Amino acid sequence: MNHNTPLISTIVVGLVLAFVFGALVQRVRISPLVGYLLAGVVMGPFTPGYVADQNIANELAEIGIILLMFGVGLHFSLKDLWSVRAIALPGAVVQISAATVMGWGLGWLLGWSSDKGIMFGIALSTASTVVLLRAMQERRLIDTERGRIAVGWLIVEDIACVLTLVMLPPLAGFMKGHAAGDMDIVSLAWPLALTLGKVAAFVALMLVVGRRVIPALLHYVAHTGSRELFRLAVFAISLGVAFGAAILFDVSFALGAFFAGMILSESELSQRAASETLPLRDAFAVLFFVSVGMLFDPSIIVKEPLPLLATLFIILFGKSFAAYGIVRVFGYSKSTALTISASLAQIGEFSFILVGLGVSLSLMTERGRDLVLAGSIISIMLNPFWFAVLDRILAEKKDTPPLPPDEKPAVPRVELPVTGLSNHVVLVGYGRVGSVVGKALRAANTPFLVIEDNPGAIERLRQEGVEVISGNAAAPGMLQAANLDVAHGLLVAIPDAFEGGQIAAKARTISTTLPIIARAHSEEEIAHLKHHGANSVIMGEHEIAKAMIAQIGAADAPSLAS
Ligand code: AMP
Repeated sequence: MNHNTPLISTIVVGLVLAFVFGALVQRVRISPLVGYLLAGVVMGPFTPGYVADQNIANELAEIGIILLMFGVGLHFSLKDLWSVRAIALPGAVVQISAATVMGWGLGWLLGWSSDKGIMFGIALSTASTVVLLRAMQERRLIDTERGRIAVGWLIVEDIACVLTLVMLPPLAGFMKGHAAGDMDIVSLAWPLALTLGKVAAFVALMLVVGRRVIPALLHYVAHTGSRELFRLAVFAISLGVAFGAAILFDVSFALGAFFAGMILSESELSQRAASETLPLRDAFAVLFFVSVGMLFDPSIIVKEPLPLLATLFIILFGKSFAAYGIVRVFGYSKSTALTISASLAQIGEFSFILVGLGVSLSLMTERGRDLVLAGSIISIMLNPFWFAVLDRILAEKKDTPPLPPDEKPAVPRVELPVTGLSNHVVLVGYGRVGSVVGKALRAANTPFLVIEDNPGAIERLRQEGVEVISGNAAAPGMLQAANLDVAHGLLVAIPDAFEGGQIAAKARTISTTLPIIARAHSEEEIAHLKHHGANSVIMGEHEIAKAMIAQIGAADAPSLAS
């Protein structure tokens, strides 16, 4: 039997080693991504033993990028982005600028030309979608205000990254000329115009033709009832559009795939398309991380400790300070600012794509690439610890109510004025659930007040003339200020059941008889909330089921009340 099968060995050794290292690091509660990168290091040219074929690994990685970007496009929701635009847009812009300036500064210290420094900074600016989404999911933050801001922020960073990928090749010549003191605007204008023209032609084709043809094709296949064919259609579309875009319009695979996903995200089949592509996407994303690990020369840790530390400082602290500052400027609480800083204090796949392009365009030195790769691997590794530190800080803050006099909190925690209301309803959260409850209470002339921590919702409540206590309901002094011991009841209408549990437990210490009604999304959350003192817990999914049964009139709605 012929054993000269580089494609098979790269895939097999890559996946097997990634599995082994991924499982090992998972055991010590580090993201498996780190394991995949380590697997790449082991099968790369800088460590002894088996060396996989880098060219094949790179091509496999390209498929990973196409599927990842297709996924980003599928999840790209203009509506979600719009709802947090006020903070996400300036936040991402400030953070990208800060990272770029810091990267450029470090490059200058290392003796690089400006173009290489700027490229290095840009590569440090974009956080990893994979790492962020995973951290948010683990902490059940996706559905919270903080989660939406972080994801919106990331989408803006993604778009900036896609734009950079498109603009970089034509800009490369200009940046190099500029660095050499030769600023020829014409030599920039023509390739830039050509690239933008090609991108515009591709976008127009996608919006005019693709928007009709692609969803129609998918609907047609969905109606055939063949799951296999549907799955194949999704892959054919994502890979086909990306490849076609690259051949016909010279745009990157990444942009083509992003657009194919975005076009589909409008279709009601997008959810299904996303879940169908997941297994293959995961497999190729793993190979992507492995191929990146193969590029990494671990000796940089001993050869360049100081530049590496400086790079890490930019990723872990520089970007975080910028994010923290801007979130606070916009009036959000410290916990929101810290969560967003922590979730963005890492870099991942976008940086890898950017350094790859940077090196191929001679806009980045191999040393710069190694620093970015090392910075990424270590920052992803440290990300869970960053969140652990965040928990510590937040827990300590709760234990130490007296704040230093020079620190003006957005949410005054001590000596909040106590409401004059009594026998009233206290409503926590005024989002999709709370605002409906609030309207009904107002219509019934029931006195109530709202505790809310989102500045937008607080503003709306003030305009509507509703009494509001601004801040996190779980923070010290908030429930006392709501005069809970003489209230008629407490409605915890927030999506995060763990925070809901904290609020219920605090309310119970104030009144043992107060009716507390909370909101949950799963049986575990119901148990958690009840354990912490809620009298009754409403699970949205049960209520939807009951309403469906009632509407179809087939049977009496079963008693699912908790
Ligand atoms: P929704 O999921 O759309 O019903 O929105 C929930 C609302 O609750 C949002 O407006 C959040 O700002 C708000 N919220 C979430 N957690 C808290 C909390 N701990 N304290 C006060 N308000 C909160």
